[in-house]
Amino acid sequence: MKYVKNFNLAFIISILLFGCTSTTKKSDSDVDRIQLMILPEFMAMDMSQNGYTEILDNAKKDGALNVDTILVERIRGVSYNLINQTYIFRDDTQDWNWEINVIESESINAFCMPGGKIVVYSGLVNKLDATDDELAAVIGHEIAHALREHGRERMSSALIQQVGILGFAIFLSNQDGSFLSKQAVLQGVALGTTLFFALPNSREQEREADDMGLELTALAGYNPMAAVSLWRKMDAQSDSEPPEFLSTHPSNENRIEDLKIEAKKYKKLYKEHQNK
Ligand SMILES: [Zn+2]
Repeated sequence: MKYVKNFNLAFIISILLFGCTSTTKKSDSDVDRIQLMILPEFMAMDMSQNGYTEILDNAKKDGALNVDTILVERIRGVSYNLINQTYIFRDDTQDWNWEINVIESESINAFCMPGGKIVVYSGLVNKLDATDDELAAVIGHEIAHALREHGRERMSSALIQQVGILGFAIFLSNQDGSFLSKQAVLQGVALGTTLFFALPNSREQEREADDMGLELTALAGYNPMAAVSLWRKMDAQSDSEPPEFLSTHPSNENRIEDLKIEAKKYKKLYKEHQNK
């Protein structure tokens, strides 16, 4: 038991020393907030991989996975143009096992899970009649969330709130003090996937994803102003049936105004990369 206590103490100290970090390099978008990351990165990646596989399996069973090959190719093309520019923000993204899949659905939604696991629902493109620039705005924003590891950050703060740092240290250690028992990982996977989708992004995370997403789209040669038209289309939809995207991305007129101001900053960058 004493060993477990020592382990917990060492774990807490290591969190305090290494758990506070900024996940991305400083760039034009000036996003460099220090983040508290209690959940280890590899664990967030594991959870993401498991959750993603489950979503794809279910879509496949329903005959809804990558049905429209022209749409899939288009979405993958835009996504890879963005992914090719992510090295500006992090050194490790070229090693990520990026995946882009399209699920046939009325839902207006898209997400990028930790480690680059992207899903775009066909409703996003079809219902909003999204242009490539607008598609890049959504996917760029979602990729920015993954680059900043906002999912891992949300899971970390939820875990702290629920069980405290000490509780989490115990959760990660079993009785003989060995690190990360298999059962703990399995519990974590179930909890992590739920937390990823249940918790909305904070306003600060949204601002970061907006700013970094705009820079990313401009770097990839897409018009950053498309973020403004895209959000207007989302807002117009919310009168009839609110897009699912808005449940994790609360929108308002201020946000659109902020996007307009920010997007103008990247006009020059966009022009430089437009015809590359
Ligand atoms: Zn967002």
